Amino acid sequence: MSVTKADVVVVGLGTVGSMAAWRLAERGRQVIGLEQFPLMHPFGGFTGESRLFRTAYHEGSMYVPLLLRARELWVELEQLSHRDLLLKVGTLSVGQQGAASISNVIESVRRHDLPHTTFDAEHLRAAYPQMRVHDDEIGVLDYLGGGLRPEAAVFSALEQARSLGAQLCGNTPVRSIEERGDGVLVQTDDDTYLAEQVIVAGGAWGQKLDPRLTDLVKIYPLILTWFMPQRIQDFAPGAFPTFIRDRDGVHFFGAPALEGYSVKVSPDRSLPPVESVTSMPRTLDSAVLEKLGREAAAFFPSLHPEPVHYSVHPDAFTETKVPIIDRSDSGRVVTFAGLSGHGFKFAPVYGELAAQLTEDDAPALYDERFSVAGH
Ligand SMILES: Cc1cc2nc3c(=O)[nH]c(=O)nc-3n(C[C@H](O)[C@H](O)[C@H](O)COP(=O)(O)OP(=O)(O)OC[C@H]3O[C@@H](n4cnc5c(N)ncnc54)[C@H](O)[C@@H]3O)c2cc1C
Repeated sequence: MSVTKADVVVVGLGTVGSMAAWRLAERGRQVIGLEQFPLMHPFGGFTGESRLFRTAYHEGSMYVPLLLRARELWVELEQLSHRDLLLKVGTLSVGQQGAASISNVIESVRRHDLPHTTFDAEHLRAAYPQMRVHDDEIGVLDYLGGGLRPEAAVFSALEQARSLGAQLCGNTPVRSIEERGDGVLVQTDDDTYLAEQVIVAGGAWGQKLDPRLTDLVKIYPLILTWFMPQRIQDFAPGAFPTFIRDRDGVHFFGAPALEGYSVKVSPDRSLPPVESVTSMPRTLDSAVLEKLGREAAAFFPSLHPEPVHYSVHPDAFTETKVPIIDRSDSGRVVTFAGLSGHGFKFAPVYGELAAQLTEDDAPALYDERFSVAGH
């Protein structure tokens, strides 16, 4: 049996893996990346036209330093790739005054002095007549927010990694990862690799790669829906920001019309968890679509409530939605898991953390709450 040696093997070349390969290769590490599907496949967590980027953060102000660094890296990747990856249109958060998520947004902008505008209900209606706003709602426009283009972003990170010498292999499922005294043995169907270190970034397939994840993450199918407005000009990028809205337990997020005819208005988790990605539904009952259409049109009255397009994608969630980022006891295997429906915006800073965790004991932006023990 011949064994190929590498500094670092990255397992999974989706959102985190592509960025880890880029940031590791940029540090001069010899990287081999292994992806079970063709590179740039449609099955993972990184497809569906757009992802929100926001710094005024519903999930808590603890994430803001990571988000500010992520934004710098998104801009760097844009410059290197000569592509628009981050649409700098701002993100509008709308919620009921005093509710936890909008309170976290306000705490984020105050604590970190983020550029923003706060609106009461009357000013929200005047600024965004596209929305039906209730009297108890407020809005915060996060000027550093916007929309990411996930397929182009992952492609660009892989392209950078490759140009820096990384060897990237599609159609190469990893079957086992075994830590030994002299390194980590990574087994595929045809090859064996011995790496100094391994990054595990398997997304919704991660439990098969790291047994520590079994009871810590669940796989949820997430729905994306697009609706036709009466006047597309009202939702053009520039006329409307990306947005996120919570009201009475109904959570929506979305993006302006990027392809020129429909608006993305998508719900939070609205389907039960599944055992594995293969058991995930890819088509939806009309009752589910009707409910989503009613809720979207209640917020944006000019939308036709029948979605013009929808898709279903997997993501792995932890109980608290705090991601798992941790090393094995030997320090040789670094695992990313449970990005919990809000991980894309962090991708390049997670890639940077992956590289740092293979070298440093305590990277400045690492938070102990990400550890397995923290869950
Ligand atoms: C519909 C939807 C909307 C979202 N919206 C937002 C948003 O607006 N903003 C935001 O920040 N986040 C958002 N998220 C969350 C974010 O997109 C995900 O958290 C993130 O993409 C997950 O990244 P990942 O690297 O963990 O998984 P993935 O990107 O899926 O990558 C995992 C990769 O590992 C590969 N792999 C797995 N097992 C193996 C193996 N054994 N061998 C080789 N390769 C393997 C997979 O094939 C895959 O390519 C959304 C997620 C979804 C699904």
